[in-house]
Amino acid sequence: MSRIAIIRKKSQLRGMLGIRARLVVLALILVCPLMLDRVRLLENTRTTQIAAVADSVATLAQRATDAQREVISSVEAVLKSAAYIHAAASQIGRSCSILRASLRVDLPSIRMLSVADSSGIIRCSTSSMFVGSDVSNRAYFRKAFETHDFVVSDFVIGQQSRQGTILAAYPVSAVDTGEEAVLIAGMNLDWLSDIMANLAGRPGINVALIDGEGTVLATPPDHRSLIGRKLDQSTLDFALGARPLEREQATTSIDSGQTLSVSRIPGTNARLVVTLDENIVSAAISRDIRTAYLQLALVCLLVLLGALIAAERLIVRPISVLTSIANQFAQGDWSARVTRARLPAEFLPLARAFNAMAAQLGQRERELVASNNSLTVMASMDLLSGLANRRGFQSRLDFEWMRGLQNGHTVALLLLDVDYFKSFNDSYGHPEGDACLSRIGETLATVANDTGGFAARYGGEEFCLLLPDTDADTAYQVGEMVRATVERLDVPHHTSLFQRVTVSIGVASASPTEDASPAELIEAADAALYAAKGRGRNTVVEHGFIRATDTISMAIAS
Ligand code: GH3
Ligand code: MG
Ligand code: MG
Repeated sequence: MSRIAIIRKKSQLRGMLGIRARLVVLALILVCPLMLDRVRLLENTRTTQIAAVADSVATLAQRATDAQREVISSVEAVLKSAAYIHAAASQIGRSCSILRASLRVDLPSIRMLSVADSSGIIRCSTSSMFVGSDVSNRAYFRKAFETHDFVVSDFVIGQQSRQGTILAAYPVSAVDTGEEAVLIAGMNLDWLSDIMANLAGRPGINVALIDGEGTVLATPPDHRSLIGRKLDQSTLDFALGARPLEREQATTSIDSGQTLSVSRIPGTNARLVVTLDENIVSAAISRDIRTAYLQLALVCLLVLLGALIAAERLIVRPISVLTSIANQFAQGDWSARVTRARLPAEFLPLARAFNAMAAQLGQRERELVASNNSLTVMASMDLLSGLANRRGFQSRLDFEWMRGLQNGHTVALLLLDVDYFKSFNDSYGHPEGDACLSRIGETLATVANDTGGFAARYGGEEFCLLLPDTDADTAYQVGEMVRATVERLDVPHHTSLFQRVTVSIGVASASPTEDASPAELIEAADAALYAAKGRGRNTVVEHGFIRATDTISMAIAS
């Protein structure tokens, strides 16, 4: 990328990251970590919660196997004792009554104890309802009979009770070879009820005790309808195992966050199957996490809006207020002031400085205008005569000409020239000449004042008197008055023909038109003045009354 492109990109980025965007980013940087930390905490809590539930299920399963193992070993001990007692008692023909009398019926691990003869008929039992029952076709009976060893049945449904139970069998032949009887004990499965009750009502946890075929034998009270049914094939495949379970407990993950845990009940083919649905277990915390995400979005939105409003109110608007005031200053409106009520406190010093600057610059401008005005006046003034100078005259003539154009009035002009002034200077000196010019200026000012005219020093010893709204006759009369007044000043001038200072005056008047110009009026007055000189000086000549002799003398003079 070229250097120019990089610079352009940078400036675009700077443009995008205006003050509003920067505030928004800042606010998000402050808020987001807090909200994300909250979400992270909830996620951790969910994981911990799922692990805790899985743990408690594992503990329960472990308790089941431990309880069953304990029951089995206790039943084995009882059956062995019972076998000895039976063998001894049978010799005196009272085995049954001795057995019943010697065995406690409230043993925690045994529900009932029975004795079956070699044909499988129960001859004697701690629970009379079993006496006479035939167990010859039961696998545990046959196995005990054949192996002469302690045997534990799978879960079986009792013939009388119609309830699932586990039976243990021990042949008397194991202790006394002369006896063919088999002792049968019904195990107390209260542990199973305890565990099932414990697992009831736990959302996301399903527990079932299945037999070696996969038929459900027991469930918590809230899932009793499953009893007698088979679990689904995929669960059974794992629960029963294509290969025999090597460990007593195994766990696997199945679809969509479900965990399947299987514990084999020792001494039996039964298995405790627990499915843990993490989604349901963590439903409450997942809801909290969703709420937290919503809160995060909402807080971000609010922060965004807040930052935008704050940027607008606290920075952007005050800056635009100050900018508009600065623009008013730029347009020369020094009366503009920043209204403090619209600004945040931090901007007040700046507003005060702005207002003070405006007041000061306004004052300076007024002073500047005043001094410019006085400079303009001075530039239009003649200091010697106290009258306007040629420049002042010119602008006043333009003005009166314009007025004449608008209202149709005539404008008259008197052009004066001091007679023989060179020789005056020569005779009386330059300062005296200045004093003389000054007196003529005063005289002209007085006449101007009286006639509503405008007097000016045209240059050197020439003066002029502008007479707005004045016709040619009146102008001539004013000219005559000026000439006579100067003569009456009686300023001695011994080299003059008239022995005193005199003036010659040319008079011209015109009605301003678009075609004519003020310069033509000056030219006409000048021509008349020239004629007055030609007529011998100390005289007034009106333009338009110039005689042929004047023209001749003008020609000679030029
Ligand atoms: P004319 O009657 O034909 O006007 O003769 P004039 O001598 O007045 O005319 P000229 O133009 O020859 O002389 C004008 C003189 O006016 C020359 C100059 O020394 C004098 N003058 C011009 N300005 C001033 C001034 O400011 N002060 C003084 N003292 N003299 C001035
Ligand atoms: Mg002159
Ligand atoms: Mg002169």
